[in-house]
Amino acid sequence: MWWLAAGVVATAVHFVLPEGGLAGSVVYDLIGLATAVGILLALRLHRPERPAMWRWFAAGQITFVIGDVIYGYYEQVLDKSPYPSPADVFYLASYPMLVMGLLLLVRRRRSGSGDLIDAAIVATGIGLVFWLFVLQPVAADAGVSALERVTTVAYPAADTLLIALLARLFTSGGARSPSARLLVAGAVLMLAADTAFAVLPLYTSASLHLADPIFLLSYVLWSAAALHPSMAGERGGGARGAATVGPSRLLLFGACSLLAPALLFVPGIGGSPIGRFSVAVGAGALILLVIARMSGFVFEVRRQSAELTRAAMQDELTGLASRRCLEDTLRDALAGGGRPQIALLGLNGFKNVNDELGRPVGDRLLTSLATRLRAVAPDDALIARIGGDEFAVLLVSSSAEEARTVASTLAHTLSAPVAVGGHELYVGVAIGLAGGAGVTPVELLRQAESAMYAAKQTGEPVRRWSPTLDERAGEFVRLGAEIRAALDSGQFRVVYQPIVDLPSGRVAAVEALVRWEHPTRGLVSPAAFIPVAERNGLIVELGEWILRTACHRLAAWRASLGAGAPDRVSVNVSARQLARPHFAATVAAALADSGLPASCLAVEVTETAVFEGGQAVVALHELRALGVRIALDDFGTGHSSLGLLQTVPVDILKVDKSFVDDVTEAGRHTVIAEALYQVSSGLGLVAVAEGVETAAQAEALHRIGYRYLQGFHFGRPVADPDFALTTVIATAEPQEARA
Ligand code: C2E
Ligand code: MG
Ligand code: MG
Repeated sequence: MWWLAAGVVATAVHFVLPEGGLAGSVVYDLIGLATAVGILLALRLHRPERPAMWRWFAAGQITFVIGDVIYGYYEQVLDKSPYPSPADVFYLASYPMLVMGLLLLVRRRRSGSGDLIDAAIVATGIGLVFWLFVLQPVAADAGVSALERVTTVAYPAADTLLIALLARLFTSGGARSPSARLLVAGAVLMLAADTAFAVLPLYTSASLHLADPIFLLSYVLWSAAALHPSMAGERGGGARGAATVGPSRLLLFGACSLLAPALLFVPGIGGSPIGRFSVAVGAGALILLVIARMSGFVFEVRRQSAELTRAAMQDELTGLASRRCLEDTLRDALAGGGRPQIALLGLNGFKNVNDELGRPVGDRLLTSLATRLRAVAPDDALIARIGGDEFAVLLVSSSAEEARTVASTLAHTLSAPVAVGGHELYVGVAIGLAGGAGVTPVELLRQAESAMYAAKQTGEPVRRWSPTLDERAGEFVRLGAEIRAALDSGQFRVVYQPIVDLPSGRVAAVEALVRWEHPTRGLVSPAAFIPVAERNGLIVELGEWILRTACHRLAAWRASLGAGAPDRVSVNVSARQLARPHFAATVAAALADSGLPASCLAVEVTETAVFEGGQAVVALHELRALGVRIALDDFGTGHSSLGLLQTVPVDILKVDKSFVDDVTEAGRHTVIAEALYQVSSGLGLVAVAEGVETAAQAEALHRIGYRYLQGFHFGRPVADPDFALTTVIATAEPQEARA
């Protein structure tokens, strides 16, 4: 800034000094010299990444200043001002150096062929004006010597080169540093000064010294550009796509193209043959350039649209085909009269991987599964990723049996553990199969999807679609919609089944079980609607309502019955509820609202809800911290019952009915019922035997050691159990008799 200010003041001083005087000449040369020194100083000061460009500028400037000094010597000492003079040799010699510097600056900007053409358009437009108003008149000026004519033409010719370079610099866009801006401003002023120098004598009688301040200012700007700190990293700005054409650029094209015809209206040009000829050539060149540029756009647009199509046909992450590609291929196969088979693969528990280990791990899991799919699928199969965790394999020319074989192989391959980022991940897969002719691609995909969901539900790896599946699915959808209405109109009830304490027969706890009193269907079993509510998410709302109802109910019993009330109410909680963040907070709120102590509540969870770990287990730990008991329901029927006991906080084991059913007969089930009791007592857990239907079963269980039993034998789930009556039991007696 200081340099610039000083330069401007010095220029002003030169301007007011008498024209042609010694002082003015000295000031002029001093400014030129300071500029050259400034650039050299800047090179040492800022140590630019690529000094070559600046060295050229410095060389150019020094050469120019030598020209100035020689000119000054002629004018002041020899008292004559020849034109052309030896000074012009230096002046002209400096241009190639400036051009070299600018060329290096332009070269650093990454630009496409489009930018080159843009620059050519601008350069042609301005060049035409230059030719018509400067070059051609000077060249045609018969009143001067040949040497003078050549010299006079040489300046604007060099300037035209500068114009082309500047146009290139402008059209290549990108971020420009202050240093580059100053440089460009300097070059523009230099151009203006040269033009003024050439044009003034042609059209006016004004003194040539009018151009001096412009020359001086251009010097100052060059050196200011060098001295600006941003010169160190002037790399020519960022890269930019060649296809971007903003309104300003279109305006520029339009202006340059219309320039030529507009020139015809300038008196002296439209009238002279050489003028008309020049305009014709210039206009022709401009039109060709614009056509080249436009065809470049067309090409670019085509290339981009091809790129978009390719992107739409491919899954970015895995490189497999996209859903659209699958649908297109399926459509072609069906239209060709084929009987394509489609296998839709849905991963189980992928969401947990994403949630717990993060998306990068999830992505790597997907890519390695995709690799496996590619490896085992038949060569002619189309493999696509059609959703976050859904893949599809399309077999265009396979029979239904072959498709099933392929699906089984796929299921087997995908279920092997995947090592990703130090984790051994097990993701199960459910595969839905559909195939045949005479259906739309959308319908076939829907069938495969419906079969896949059915497979997910039953836990089998592969399932083929059949019309009955749809009936069931239709029922599902209907039920789902009705649950919403039932919640709003209060069709749900909670019933309570006693859990009795042996040998006293006291009702130690109750299990809350939901009932749906459907206005037309009658009583709908939870086994029928809980899975539906789990799938459409309504279980969250329904579950919270059940929880609150049960808490209030026990609180009321405690208030009215005192010690006669059961110690605890056990509420079933499904996986989806547990997986929600803040489930523990929901429970805490229900307890607070009802005034029930946390120790009076147990939540029953199934092994499948917690065996994948994650948020569900976090929730259990939080519940435990509240003081709520945790019961593992249907214990022994899940995947990894015993393993779970190490990872999941548990207080109560509810031994499944299937082990209770045959407990009276000697054999496997008795052994398991015994073993499960041993495990629970060994771990300090409470064992509850479920589904006790006969006195004999109760007796056998009691003999094994079970103290808590639940089942129709002691009482069915009802809205208002009679806690006094259920104490009548027949276990203690036969045991004693036998003893
Ligand atoms: P569960 O939690 O294992 O509940 C025990 C089921 O066994 C209940 O069936 C109960 O009526 C039945 N049961 C009890 N004693 C006997 C017996 O001696 N013999 C026979 N055959 N069955 C007996 P329910 O009420 O139909 O519930 C079925 C399942 O539905 C429950 O199994 C539970 O998983 C689910 N469920 C019920 N209520 C709810 C609830 O409020 N929330 C959630 N999330 N699930 C619930
Ligand atoms: Mg239960
Ligand atoms: Mg159970």
